[in-house]
Amino acid sequence: MLRTLKSAGFKAYLVGGLVRDRLRGKPGGDFDVATNARAEQVQKLFRKVIPTGIQHGTVTVLTKNDKVEVTTFRGEGAYADGRRPDSVVFLDDVKEDLARRDFTMNAMAFDPLGQEFVDPFGGARDLEARIIRCVGKARDRFSEDGLRPLRAVRFASILGFDIDPETREAIPATLSTFNKIALERVREELSKMVVGPQPSRGVRLLHETGLLQAILPEAAQGDFERTLARLDACPPRLEVRHAALLFAISPEQAQAAMERLRHPRAVIDRTAALVRFESYALKAYADDAGLRQALSPVGRVFIEDVLALGAAEARASGDASLRATCEETSRRTQAVLDARPALTVGELALNGKAVMAILGGGQGPLVGEALRYLLGEVLRDPAANVPATLENLLQKWRLERGSAAGPVK
Ligand code: ATP
Ligand code: MG
Repeated sequence: MLRTLKSAGFKAYLVGGLVRDRLRGKPGGDFDVATNARAEQVQKLFRKVIPTGIQHGTVTVLTKNDKVEVTTFRGEGAYADGRRPDSVVFLDDVKEDLARRDFTMNAMAFDPLGQEFVDPFGGARDLEARIIRCVGKARDRFSEDGLRPLRAVRFASILGFDIDPETREAIPATLSTFNKIALERVREELSKMVVGPQPSRGVRLLHETGLLQAILPEAAQGDFERTLARLDACPPRLEVRHAALLFAISPEQAQAAMERLRHPRAVIDRTAALVRFESYALKAYADDAGLRQALSPVGRVFIEDVLALGAAEARASGDASLRATCEETSRRTQAVLDARPALTVGELALNGKAVMAILGGGQGPLVGEALRYLLGEVLRDPAANVPATLENLLQKWRLERGSAAGPVK
């Protein structure tokens, strides 16, 4: 890949996260290549090329094993809107390309063929010292592109690094630029951060710098320290971690917050459901019947995350008896689920049609009511979930309800 570009007489370097992560001894990550070849010239050199962002000089080259983003060295014109440069200029020197990048650790280039390492801003030194520092003046860089402050916090959180004081002080100073950026871009960075190893680090930074107020003020409601502890105690799954952040508010408010950040529908719904069932695992249940009743609306699909969220809250509370309750409820939930009981109307041994036949009426609200009654009985006693028993129960129910439950003729 690099060889092809170099054989054709161009300069070519690995750049961005890959160089940073290799230097940290963490190989992997996506391949980003910077070159002085123009996008059209790159297209001619390779067989499979996707014109990802040709006007910005970026194409994606598909090789046997990799997808490589190849971008022409470029500089950026003024940023009038705090989001995108007004223009880009293509350049011949990698150093000038590195100057437009966000942080020193992200502004290094490496040419493995020529064994040339280009690090004009001390990225390797900062990486060693575990410091996130803007390339150039932080206030200027954050005023150009409002996403950068959030990226600084994201990297600090994921890597466990500190933000250099000048860079950090520039965050509250440039909040007005931050507020202009598209929430989709915010969501991408926030999501990467939230599933990291110690998200409380980032959320605390967001809080201290004013970013949290701008992104997700809901997360600051309630006991913030407890929210941070709960967050870290959750498994690194997007919805559970978000539910941990939105624990103090109602499911409807959680839903609205997730919608505002333009999460995909499935993520929004799942997070709101987790908030709705957040207390399930924190309660003690007198018997298995009570447990099954509480479990029925939660359902099998959510239960693992519901238990994980409850366990995280129990840990964050520091309350030993709450932890014991939660562990007991989790254990019993597993045992109950292992017996594969019916938890929904759909799992009853009689379906709506059969119920209609027995009641002798047509469709109507009565059928739903009857099915819910039967489910209640089955949740109490799973052994009742056979057609004959349900039919008997249904006949009894009809008699007890009197004429109201009879067929309307
Ligand atoms: P990740 O491991 O999350 O992919 P990354 O550093 O590769 O981290 P990308 O978003 O893939 O992040 O960006 C690739 C490179 O592009 C960065 O390393 C940085 O040099 C540059 N870059 C990305 N976003 C910006 C930005 N908003 N402003 C300036 N430079 C940026
Ligand atoms: Mg990357």
